Amino acid sequence: MTNPEEKTIELDGSQGEGGGQILRTSLALSVATGQPLAIERIRAGRAKPGLMRQHLACVKAAAEISGAQVEGAELGSQSLRFVPGPVRAGDYRFAIASAGSCMLVLQTVLPPLLLAGAPSTVHLSGGTHNPMAPPFHFLERAFVPLVRRLGADLQLTLRRCGFYPAGGGEVEATIVPAVGALQPFELMARGTQQSAHAECLAPGLPRHVPTRELDTLGGAMGWSGEQLRFGTARQNEGPGNALIATLAYEHVTEVFTAFGEKTLSAEQVAHGLVKELRAFQKSEAAVGPHLADQLALLLALATWQSRKPAAFTCSEVTEHTRTNCAVIERFLPVHFAIAESRTASTVQVSSA
Ligand code: ATP
Repeated sequence: MTNPEEKTIELDGSQGEGGGQILRTSLALSVATGQPLAIERIRAGRAKPGLMRQHLACVKAAAEISGAQVEGAELGSQSLRFVPGPVRAGDYRFAIASAGSCMLVLQTVLPPLLLAGAPSTVHLSGGTHNPMAPPFHFLERAFVPLVRRLGADLQLTLRRCGFYPAGGGEVEATIVPAVGALQPFELMARGTQQSAHAECLAPGLPRHVPTRELDTLGGAMGWSGEQLRFGTARQNEGPGNALIATLAYEHVTEVFTAFGEKTLSAEQVAHGLVKELRAFQKSEAAVGPHLADQLALLLALATWQSRKPAAFTCSEVTEHTRTNCAVIERFLPVHFAIAESRTASTVQVSSA
C-alpha cells in the first residue's frame, strides 16, 4: 500500500487532546493533499478507545471521495493506514446507522471537496444535533458565511432533525469550490451586535420543557418574548432537546447550543447555555472556541493555496484547537502563531 509520489504522514492519535478530531482533520488533509496517513493509538485515552461507528463513517466517507486504499477500518481499531487517490467531486450519500453525528462526516469531506474541480452534493443521515459535535444550525449560521468569505460556497438544507438515541436526521449539502484559490481573510473583531435570539428544539417532549428552558434563558439574558422561540421540528423527529442561541454581529454570527439530558433539569440546560453566552460576551473576540477549531482548518487551506496569511481572534484557545493546529501543520506548509489573552486570543496562520 504505497503512494510513490508522497511521503506518509505518521501521527500519534493520542497526542494533545487525543480525540476524534485528530482523525477527522488528518483524513480531510490526507485527501486534500494526497499525502498517505498512518495513525496509531487512535483515541487511546478515551473510555471506549479506537474507531467508534461515527469515526468509521468518517474513514469510509474520506475513502469514497478519494478511492483510498485503507487498512484498519474496523470498530475499535486503534491504527489506520490510509492512502488516498485524487479527490473526486460527485454526488454522495453517507449514512450513520447509529445516532452518531453526520455533521462530523461533513466536517471530514468538506475540506477536500472544497478543493475539487467541480461542485459536489452530499446527502447525510444520522444525528444532526449531537453533544460534542457541530449542530446543524451552528454550521448553517456561523460556519457557512465563513466558507463563503473564502470565495467558495456551501449550501445546507435540514430535511429532518436527528437526535441521540434515535438518529434518523437528514441533511443535504452542496459544496462549490472557489474559482481559483481559496482567499484567506482576517477576522479580528466581531463588530456591533445586530440581533440575538434563542430557539428551543424539543420534538417528542412535553411543552413545559422548551417553555422552561426559554423562560430561564430569557430571564438570565434579559431577552424579550420575540427573541425566545419554539423551534420547528416534527414530533416524530424526537425525542430530543437542543437549546440554540444565535448572536449576529456586524462581522460574524456565533451559535451556542446546550443539549437536554435525562439527568439535567430544563433550568440546568438553560443555565449551561447562559454560562457559555456570558463567557463569549465578556470577551472581545470574533469567534468562540468551537468556531475557532473549525476556522483554523479553513484558513490554513486558504493560506496554503494563496500563500497569503490569515488571522482571527477567539474567546478561548482550547486544547482541542491547539491539537487541531498541530495536526494541520503536519500536512500543510503553514505555521500557526497563537497569542493568548484574557480578552481575545489571536491565532495567526502564515506560510511556513
Ligand atoms: P472524542 O470522543 O474522541 O473526544 P469526538 O470525535 O466525539 O472525539 P471531538 O474530538 O471532541 O469529538 O470533536 C468534536 C467537534 O465538534 C469539534 O470540531 C468541535 O469544535 C465541534 N463541536 C463540539 N461541540 C460543539 C458545539 N456546541 N457547537 C459547535 N461545534 C461543536
